[in-house]
Amino acid sequence: MKKGPTEWEMRNIIMPLMLSGAKMLDRHCPKCGSPLFEKDGRVFCPVCEYRAKKRKAEMQGVEERLMEKLNELANSLPEDIDELEKHLRAMEKIIELLERYRKLGGGE
Ligand SMILES: [Zn+2]
Repeated sequence: MKKGPTEWEMRNIIMPLMLSGAKMLDRHCPKCGSPLFEKDGRVFCPVCEYRAKKRKAEMQGVEERLMEKLNELANSLPEDIDELEKHLRAMEKIIELLERYRKLGGGE
């Protein structure tokens, strides 16, 4: 199901855009149903742009935390072989996650 603009998005993204002189078109975004806007010859959906930006910022936060943990693990490798293997396996999982996240982030 499509997720239309929320009230918050209406008030904080669409309204200010209208006030800023962007032209509201009588076409709607096929993805979220928000009215499309035109500014400086460019047609765009402000809601989708906002959501993509927000998602990217969120993903960067996750990525940073994963990197931190990875560094932490890399800096504290245990001597014991069994422990070391557990450690490395955890690192491997984090790297896998990071790769998956990067793929998701590059989608838009
Ligand atoms: Zn949209």
